[in-house]
Amino acid sequence: MEFGVVICPRCRMARAVKLGQKTTTCTRCGKKFEVKGRVVYRAGDAREAAAAVAEVNKKLMEK
Ligand SMILES: [Zn+2]
Repeated sequence: MEFGVVICPRCRMARAVKLGQKTTTCTRCGKKFEVKGRVVYRAGDAREAAAAVAEVNKKLMEK
């Protein structure tokens, strides 16, 4: 199972999704959005994806 990291277009929070799922719902703001075209990082497993999400959110908060 491959995972991807996507960023919510509304609140800019990163979250992990399973690659292959078409849409996801942001846990922070509830926005439902398409996964396609929004994957900023690909991970081989859930653990790597979670680490990538933490890293991306950290960077987003610095801006
Ligand atoms: Zn959101």
